[in-house]
Amino acid sequence: MRRIVILGGGMTGLALAFLRNQNPAPGDDILVLEEGPQAGGSIRTLHEEGLVLEAGPHTLRTTAAAERLISALDLQDDLLVTDPRTPRWIVRGGRARKVVPGPSSLLTTAVPFGARMRALKEPFVPSRTASLADESVHDFFGRRFGPGVARWVAGPLVSGVWADDPKTLSARSAFPALWEAEGRAGSVLRGLLNSPKPPGPRFHSRTVSFREGLASLPDRLVARSQRAGVRVELNAEVLGIEGPFDGEDGGGIWKIQIADGTVYPADTLVSTLDTTAVASLFESRLPRSAPRLSAMSYSRLAVVLQAFRPEREKDAPHGFGLLVPRGEGLRSLGILYLSSLFPDRVPGDVALTTSFFGGALDPSLPDLTEGGLLKLAEAEVRSLHPALGPRIHDRVLKWPAALPRLPIGHHATLDLLAQDLAEINAGSERPRLVVTGSWRDGLGLGERIARAEELAPTL
Ligand SMILES: Cc1cc2nc3c(=O)[nH]c(=O)nc-3n(C[C@H](O)[C@H](O)[C@H](O)COP(=O)(O)OP(=O)(O)OC[C@H]3O[C@@H](n4cnc5c(N)ncnc54)[C@H](O)[C@@H]3O)c2cc1C
Repeated sequence: MRRIVILGGGMTGLALAFLRNQNPAPGDDILVLEEGPQAGGSIRTLHEEGLVLEAGPHTLRTTAAAERLISALDLQDDLLVTDPRTPRWIVRGGRARKVVPGPSSLLTTAVPFGARMRALKEPFVPSRTASLADESVHDFFGRRFGPGVARWVAGPLVSGVWADDPKTLSARSAFPALWEAEGRAGSVLRGLLNSPKPPGPRFHSRTVSFREGLASLPDRLVARSQRAGVRVELNAEVLGIEGPFDGEDGGGIWKIQIADGTVYPADTLVSTLDTTAVASLFESRLPRSAPRLSAMSYSRLAVVLQAFRPEREKDAPHGFGLLVPRGEGLRSLGILYLSSLFPDRVPGDVALTTSFFGGALDPSLPDLTEGGLLKLAEAEVRSLHPALGPRIHDRVLKWPAALPRLPIGHHATLDLLAQDLAEINAGSERPRLVVTGSWRDGLGLGERIARAEELAPTL
């Protein structure tokens, strides 16, 4: 019997357990250990007052692997798909300005005219020198597309997606496709236009959720996996890991101890945990990388969900949501318009907004009381949408460690981790230890599922 233990019951751990179990090797025994009382990790769907609300991720941008998983779980009929032309908004000069995805985005007034003209010269900007191993997102966009794009596009994007500081976030690790495009073609735009096409029909990514919210995905994964014999243990905080042993006594290569004292043996161990947990649980086993992983930090966020009842439909916010460059007078990092994104699951007379606060550039804001955060969120939403009508529901949630902050040079830490893992796994037909996570190989839910699909057959 081969015992596979997966640490963490978020999107990655659950998808991996399910996918591995779809084609199990004879005798596979799969166990997921999750410290929380529910599975799903960052996915946090709430059902309150007849509303479907999201306190974590709001949308899933599909990869081919995510589309396959949704089909395998028979969730296609529950799928809600956003219109790809749904506009985004960026605040500039105190006004929300529209950005419609596609070529017409070049006409947006969210970015000043001169800055747009400078961005078009990107293909003629000399390529980076070989000695530049990494730089900040701010410097990368400034160098390639000009300071206007760095300020008005990259800045709010980094706030909205990573809740990080564009002047410290690694361009190479946070935007690998853009970094590689420049490396390949000497220009980001040329590199993207001429990127090698994968074989097979062209894949069209979609931005989706489900009728009952994103939690449908982890819920269905748990139900199907358990039915097929996978064990998912909740309230099972992993406190200590011993090993690797030679495993010849049948006691497993690893021994994993959880909070209630139970010790589980494992032949293959997969960590989907954050950098802090990986560094402390594996410390001496990862001599090169653990000190660097333990020095990494996570951004803190507060999320304020509000439901309003505007008198007229046209007074409700329309579009994907709004990004706020720093220095524009608002403290929201961004505001998502959930009712406009997925109108089919929201009563017609209700407008839902989600405001995000905190992140690396405003780290103490989540310390405000819930009342203080609510007041701020309401004032900022109403300043942009004055005729929203009465607020009929609200909820404030805090994320003490929301998103990994990837420092400049993060790729070197990952290289050291790869060396540590190669040493642990040397000479073994199947890996003894696998480490994955949004800090290593992709932040978005679609990417997390793609990683799980890649890893499943290798365990
Ligand atoms: C507020 C917020 C908004 C986001 N918005 C989006 C979005 O709109 N779209 C998108 O694609 N992505 C979004 N993301 C990112 C995305 O949600 C995450 O990258 C993804 O969910 C990570 O999944 P994971 O399984 O790799 O990690 P996690 O979800 O972090 O799962 C890891 C699990 O490990 C458990 N764990 C930790 N320590 C231990 C331990 N010692 N023992 C046992 N278990 C442990 C945790 O409880 C957790 O459940 C958002 C994230 C946040 C926080």
